[in-house]
Amino acid sequence: MTKEEFESWVGSLEPEQQAKAKGFYHVVKRKEPRGELYLSPYSDEYKDLLGEVAGLLKECSKLVEDESLSKFLRTRAEAFLNNEYLTSEVDWLNISKESRLEVTVGPYEVYTDELFSSKSAFEFYVHARDFEFSKVLEKFSNSLQEVENNLPVPPEYKNNDLRATPIVVVNQLYAAGDVAVPMTAAYNLPNDEEAIKRGGSKLVIIKNVQEGKYHNILEPIARSTIAENQLQHLSFDAFFTHILLHEVAHSNGPHYTIGPNPVTVRSRLQEYHSAIEEAKADITGLFAAAHLLKIGLLTAPSIQQFYVTYLASAFRSIRFGIKEAHGLGQCIQLNYILLQGGIIYDPITARFSVNFDTVATAVSNLTKDILILQGNGDKKRVKEFVDMYGEVRKEVKEALSKLEHEGIPIDIRPLYEIEKYVCL
Ligand SMILES: [Zn+2]
Repeated sequence: MTKEEFESWVGSLEPEQQAKAKGFYHVVKRKEPRGELYLSPYSDEYKDLLGEVAGLLKECSKLVEDESLSKFLRTRAEAFLNNEYLTSEVDWLNISKESRLEVTVGPYEVYTDELFSSKSAFEFYVHARDFEFSKVLEKFSNSLQEVENNLPVPPEYKNNDLRATPIVVVNQLYAAGDVAVPMTAAYNLPNDEEAIKRGGSKLVIIKNVQEGKYHNILEPIARSTIAENQLQHLSFDAFFTHILLHEVAHSNGPHYTIGPNPVTVRSRLQEYHSAIEEAKADITGLFAAAHLLKIGLLTAPSIQQFYVTYLASAFRSIRFGIKEAHGLGQCIQLNYILLQGGIIYDPITARFSVNFDTVATAVSNLTKDILILQGNGDKKRVKEFVDMYGEVRKEVKEALSKLEHEGIPIDIRPLYEIEKYVCL
């Protein structure tokens, strides 16, 4: 089926059918012998599989102790049978903070639909909540306004009424379906706009998957690229705390342009928005770490651990390529801080190090520059900024090819303990 064939067919349908044709939960098929298109709901199309899963989910709903989780499992089982997902999407958002398990199951992401990115693929996660890190996260969410008030920008660029997105920290027990390569380490759901309108959204961060990436990828990268006398500052807690601060920092700064007739920053910056927004979250998160340590709201990891781990992590992100928002965003940050002398390259050892005397100023300057670019919403200025800092420098390229040469993996594939005990 071509895009054109689909579009002209959709144009001939009633509005309700059109929504289903473009929606997440119906397969588009051909009727034989004449080949006209028609819709088949997932609940019919995958009836044998979904019927069995629905039965198992109902059984689980009687075994789990948390009532809100039990309710989600029941309504999701119903959705598998009747193809109506909205109720269970909202029930997923309402799973209690006290529930020890976080289960995500259903048709969610649309990455595998290469034609229109509209048909969802099934995925399944069983996670155990990490209450310790969830508490750390709560502290960050509560200090969001405190960080905002202290951002290095004029008052008109600050938001006086910030609300943090709900975030939960979990450890993965099992994952299956459309979840791997690159191995999912965090997800923000639901994708269904109607469900978001009714219940908001929730970000799930998977700590032990991040831990796997840290030990198997980030540590070897650091051993190859960072000055030897700074390797002692490498820290998983700094890595993971910065990830949490990054996610919280997406709420910081201007999301609408400053001045009369505000519009969304996204609508102004367009193709540059994602990379700038990711860079914003990274650098503001690092700025926040320094600020929270200074005022004593955070006592560990040390600021040296944050900076050195951040530097090693830059190479990990740029490795995914600068065509991708996180990679480009990280490349911009690295170049900016290098040019301001906050990070130093030693051509003799071919290693990078943090200059602890100047890095804080460089981080603060970059935070300011990015937030002002976003608030002004001037795409031409943003393009100049990206052109100036968004290129992989020669010494960084050399470091990346060294990593390639050493065979440091790009990603991880977990082995689940649970598979030893259950016949899957
Ligand atoms: Zn982000």
